[in-house]
Amino acid sequence: MTESDNAVQNDPSCRDDHDPQSLPVAAAWERIRTELQPVRGVEQVAVRQALGRILAGAVHSTVDVPGHDNAAMDGYALRGQDLPAEDARDFRCVRTVLAGAPPGAELGPGECVRIMTGAPIPPGADTVVMQENVRADGDRVEVRAGEAPGQHVRAAGEDLARGSRVFAPGTRVGPAELGMLGSLGLVEVPVYRRLRVAFFSTGDELRTAGSSLEPGQIYDSNRYTLFAMLQRLGVEATDMGVVGDDPAALETAFTDAASFADAIITSGGVSVGEADFVKEQLARLGQVGFWKLAMRPGRPLAFGTIGQARFFGLPGNPVSVVATWYQFVQPALRRLMGENPQPPTTFRVRAAADLRKRPGRTEFQRGILRRDEHGELAVTTTGGQGSGMLHSVSLANCFIVLPHDAGNVTAGDYVEVQPFEGVCP
Ligand code: AMP
Ligand code: MG
Repeated sequence: MTESDNAVQNDPSCRDDHDPQSLPVAAAWERIRTELQPVRGVEQVAVRQALGRILAGAVHSTVDVPGHDNAAMDGYALRGQDLPAEDARDFRCVRTVLAGAPPGAELGPGECVRIMTGAPIPPGADTVVMQENVRADGDRVEVRAGEAPGQHVRAAGEDLARGSRVFAPGTRVGPAELGMLGSLGLVEVPVYRRLRVAFFSTGDELRTAGSSLEPGQIYDSNRYTLFAMLQRLGVEATDMGVVGDDPAALETAFTDAASFADAIITSGGVSVGEADFVKEQLARLGQVGFWKLAMRPGRPLAFGTIGQARFFGLPGNPVSVVATWYQFVQPALRRLMGENPQPPTTFRVRAAADLRKRPGRTEFQRGILRRDEHGELAVTTTGGQGSGMLHSVSLANCFIVLPHDAGNVTAGDYVEVQPFEGVCP
């Protein structure tokens, strides 16, 4: 057992079953950051294969981007000092410079070149005048007063200077990052190896699609939700199916999962009901840090280790799965993947209706964010907030985050919202 696991277990805020001792959501974030370290293992991949992966080393620029001063407009490049202070001045156009062509010889006083966007600025020139603003007649180009020296030129290295650090280790590669890697001319980059995650549902009542339901049985939804969220996160996910509420079956599943996975995620069986064996088996096979998060939905959450694998035992209620995933499991996995996750972006909007809230826990109500008749953003809940109502998540486009100490909200009050877009990388 590592020292940090010990710290989790011995800390009364995690052990105590009484509500006031539950771990506030912000403290859980801090623990994720400090207690979880990225997986070891780095591989070199071709730049396009790095999409959705996490950079394992810093990337420095070996070139200036752009590589030379170039025109930001189609027009005429000239010496800024030659611009007329009043009226107009004629310039002599000595040649045309196209993008990709060499810039040619130094410009003399009163000379200009016709230049296209992206073409290199010739030596001596430092200013571009838009072609719409001149009167051209053969090689005579009339420029009027009012143009600013230095305008419409993109400086060499203004996007990236040679030698500068472009990306820190731990950067997730998205479309803009992929483009930047391309602009540096890189062929391969180092990324962390993919995180291996095993997941399964627990519960005697669960059936998989394709089988018929007897009284008291339900179809398993959590495995679908988890599959989707793991897929989007970019991990190597292994679906281990449904495991019944049976200590021996759980033991087999845990042992199997721990033999190959970096992280194991289960749902169900972590509260104090009669068929809740997850914690008990986890304690036998590994170490449990039982985290009671001061949040709703999603209070009970088993967190621990089995062998080398990190373990996350989520509650069974489908909405609790989504809430604990976003607020806790996803940032934890991102940390294991090598990222430095930041808390999700929130912003403040008016509540369009009263909201019920009890102090002492952070609530993540499912909200619909839309503009009211004055064009102002306002939020309402999706209605019933029961933690079994997965439909409420599907109807929502944000979480309404009601903080730990807050009580009821009156219509017109400001509340924090966390848009769903952006909570998943
Ligand atoms: P538990 O945490 O095992 O006590 O489950 C809490 C509630 O969530 C119960 O109503 C379960 O039937 C339900 N539940 C548990 N696992 C799943 C699942 N995989 N899919 C849908 N509902 C579930
Ligand atoms: Mg159960």
